[in-house]
Amino acid sequence: MRQETSLTYTMELRKAYPSEWRSWQAMFSRTRYRSQHDWKHYGGKPISVEEAGWRDFSIWLADVGPKPEPQSWFTRKNKTLGYTKQNCCWAPASESHPNKTKTHCWRGHSLTGENLIPYFLERGRRQCRTCQTLRERDKYATKKKQSKNQELVAA
Ligand SMILES: [Zn+2]
Repeated sequence: MRQETSLTYTMELRKAYPSEWRSWQAMFSRTRYRSQHDWKHYGGKPISVEEAGWRDFSIWLADVGPKPEPQSWFTRKNKTLGYTKQNCCWAPASESHPNKTKTHCWRGHSLTGENLIPYFLERGRRQCRTCQTLRERDKYATKKKQSKNQELVAA
């Protein structure tokens, strides 16, 4: 039986390994999101964190080790398989980032043809047009609300 890692110890680790902590959190947020909305885009099988112990940051860190370089990122060797000790590694900074080759944005919009913004594409970024439009609509709605509030204050 494994002993529960104390919260204090976890918080100390978090302070000592802030960048690893972010990778660890990202792993969970990605799998949660995909399992709810996007999993059909990822080979029809929801990708999950299959190591039960990895809910515990200290166990995950002991398994995968600290980041070898500051620019490394945590990745799966086989993208159709989930997060397991065998399938995960720190990819070196020299390797091209997976974002450049991904086929869908994080919301699941296809990153091809019309949905890519030429301005960003020329600069080596595959920006999702649908998400960009949603963001601009949000920004506009917020601005409109703000100016309305200001009118109320002025009146
Ligand atoms: Zn999108």
